[in-house]
Amino acid sequence: MTGDAKRPMWHAAAEAMAPDARAARQLRGLRSLLAWVGARSPMYRERLAGIDARAVRTLEDFSAAVPLTTKDDLRAAMDRHASALPHLCVPRETLVLAGPSAGTSGRQTYQAFDAQDLDRNTEMLARLYWAAGMRPDDVLHLLVTPFTPAADIFRLAAQRVGVRWIVRDNHEPAQVARYVDAARALGPSFLQAGVSTLRAMAQHARTLPAARAGTPALPYRRAILMGAALGPEAREQFRAEQGIEVCTLSGQGSDFNLFSGECEAHDGEHWHGEDMTLVEVIDPATGRTAADGAVGEMVITDFYRRATPHLRWRTEDMVRVHPGACRCGRTSRRFTLLDRVANRVPVRDTAVYPFEVETALSRSADGRNLEFSLVRHAPAPPTLAVRLLRPPALPDAEAGAMAQRLQHHLDTELGVPTQVSFHDDLPRVGYKTVRVIDHRPA
Ligand SMILES: [Zn+2]
Repeated sequence: MTGDAKRPMWHAAAEAMAPDARAARQLRGLRSLLAWVGARSPMYRERLAGIDARAVRTLEDFSAAVPLTTKDDLRAAMDRHASALPHLCVPRETLVLAGPSAGTSGRQTYQAFDAQDLDRNTEMLARLYWAAGMRPDDVLHLLVTPFTPAADIFRLAAQRVGVRWIVRDNHEPAQVARYVDAARALGPSFLQAGVSTLRAMAQHARTLPAARAGTPALPYRRAILMGAALGPEAREQFRAEQGIEVCTLSGQGSDFNLFSGECEAHDGEHWHGEDMTLVEVIDPATGRTAADGAVGEMVITDFYRRATPHLRWRTEDMVRVHPGACRCGRTSRRFTLLDRVANRVPVRDTAVYPFEVETALSRSADGRNLEFSLVRHAPAPPTLAVRLLRPPALPDAEAGAMAQRLQHHLDTELGVPTQVSFHDDLPRVGYKTVRVIDHRPA
């Protein structure tokens, strides 16, 4: 599907589908998924024992009948069935793509795609790119961990949108100078990278002379950023200083290659595949459906998937659902990814999540677009330790005063006492700054 670069949606029939029609499609998809996995996967045959797929007549029936799945359930099934893919439902020879999840904790798990899975996953990413403003005449600078299934699918989706030239690179903090050099030499118009990466690129580019007088230091027209929350004022700074219109993307690269992404309204991130997946939001403590508008954990069933589908998979991501319809015309639900459930940092008798610190920093001219880490202790300490990555151009003489100002700002914004310090380096996992450094006893 290619063509008119001005059309508002990539696949309007799916993206603007009426909610009732979508729910009916989801129910059909879920019922066929139950039959599909029950007949083919040893792991799901066990997990679905005693469930009658014919008795699932509503989406609520599905949630009530089918147990939630965690990553540890998959790991346990890997042991029991002596297989890396106990959730595999197609013959191995039909797989076209498979790889490790990019998980950062615990034992590695794997996912796989057959040709139809790959085609549909690519379609959902093409919708996401289109919503973020990618068009066929863009040149994409794609910074992504290579050799993961996601790296392949991002490239295929951009090509499906019609992009011909993709400047591909790895995604490592130590290579920022090279990325900036390539951007200024080749002039790509659309960047995909991590939030921390664009921050580092912008700081590096500021130290260089302008390529031509009066032009921004980086050539991009748009960027899609991933890997961390981005405050609205921080987004505005990229627009004002670099001329870059930024959309965010977040989601489930490691297990699903499913992502949510912003449209130009910047009112939450659209879930672009609601005709192919079911997303539930649950209370992580009780497992029950979260109340409308409440914060909860995202749970995904990717019923479009044939090779390694997931049934009611707990993502451990806390999201907020945005109310009402989006002015772009898409009817899909919109989420803001708040944080990993595991990123809760206790302080005194309350707790702070990194997204709250990002939001607070974004509201300060000094703190906007600074990378940070929080330090977690047990038991909960009386103050929250906030470590900031020191900008390369900040002189010693000013760092102390700025830390004091930011500490005062964060105390007020967060409602807990903070201890702010600048550091020349912060720990990272891949391209992401570690947002919570654990100093709890093991
Ligand atoms: Zn929208």
